[in-house]
Amino acid sequence: KLKQIAIYGKGGIGKSTTTSNISAALSVAGYKVMQFGCDPKSDSTNTLRGGEYIPTVLDSLRDNHAVKAQDVIFQGFNGIYCVEAGGPAPGVGCAGRGIITSVSLMKQQRVFEELDLDFVIYDVLGDVVCGGFAVPVREGIAEHVYTVTSADFMAIYAANNLFKGIHKYSQDGGALLGGVIANSINAPYAKEIVDDFVSRTDTRVVEYVPRSLTVTQSELQGKTTIEAAPDSEQARVYRSLAQNIAEHTVSKVPAPLETNELRQWAADWGKRLVQQDSGLAAPAAAG
Ligand code: ADP
Ligand code: SF4
Ligand code: MG
Repeated sequence: KLKQIAIYGKGGIGKSTTTSNISAALSVAGYKVMQFGCDPKSDSTNTLRGGEYIPTVLDSLRDNHAVKAQDVIFQGFNGIYCVEAGGPAPGVGCAGRGIITSVSLMKQQRVFEELDLDFVIYDVLGDVVCGGFAVPVREGIAEHVYTVTSADFMAIYAANNLFKGIHKYSQDGGALLGGVIANSINAPYAKEIVDDFVSRTDTRVVEYVPRSLTVTQSELQGKTTIEAAPDSEQARVYRSLAQNIAEHTVSKVPAPLETNELRQWAADWGKRLVQQDSGLAAPAAAG
C-alpha cells in the first residue's frame, strides 16, 4: 500500500539532504519511491540527479497548459522518481499552489497507481508565515508528517509551529506526526535539548543524525551519502532512519507548547547550559 510522507523543518535545517537520503535508502531496500520537492528553490532532488536541476511543474504549466505528468517526472539515483513542484517568484505568495497543482496533476493521471509506488515523500518548505505551510497536512496529501530539527531554538520553534498546525487540523482528518528527525546532533547537550522537547510535546525522536563531513563531500559530488559513501557510518544512520519510517504505522497528534511556554523552556535551557559550561570550564582553568 502507498505511504505518503511529508517532511518539514526550518529552512537550511537539512530537509532536502535528509529526504533524499531517505528516498535513496528506501529505493536501495527495494521500494519504489517518488520524491516531491515543494520548495520554490526547486533543489530538493539535486543530489538524486548528480547535482542537476529539473524543470518545475509550475514552470512547465506556464509554458504549456497541456503538460503531462511524464513531462515533469525525472528519474534519478536507482530509478527514484523526482518531481519539483516549484513556486512563485520571490516575494509573491502562492498559498501552496505549487503543491496543490502538482499533486492534482499526478492524481488526474493516476500516476501513483500506474508507477505502483510504495512511497511518495514530500520535502516541504516549512515557512509558517505562508498560507501554503499547512497544505500537505490539511489537504490529506500526506498521512505521516516528520520534522527535521536541530537543537537550535529557531529550528525547534519551527517544529513546534508545525505541531500546532497538525494539532489544529487533526480533528478533520489531517495528517498526524510520525516523529522528529534530530539533525546535526553531535554534542551531548544537543541530544538532551531535543529529547526534552519531544518529551514535553508528547512526540518522539525517530533518529539522531550527526553533522558529518561525509554529507558535505557527497553533496559536492551531487550525490546522496547513500550513493556516494554507502559504507560510511552516516549512510548506516540514514538506512536506519529509512527503515524506521518504512516500518512506522500509527502517527499521533503532538502536544505543542504555547509560545510563552516555549520561550520559558528555551530560557531555562539557556541558564542550564551556562551553568554546565562554567562547571566544565572551572577544572580546566584551575589546571
Ligand atoms: P533544507 O532543505 O532544510 O533547506 P538542506 O538539506 O539543503 O536544507 O541542507 C542545508 C545544508 O546543510 C546543505 O549544504 C547540507 O549539505 C547541509 N547538511 C544538512 N544536514 C547535514 C548533516 N547531517 N551533516 C552535514 N551537513 C548537513
Ligand atoms: Fe512559498 Fe508559501 Fe507557496 Fe510554499 S506555499 S511556495 S512557502 S508562497
Ligand atoms: Mg530544501
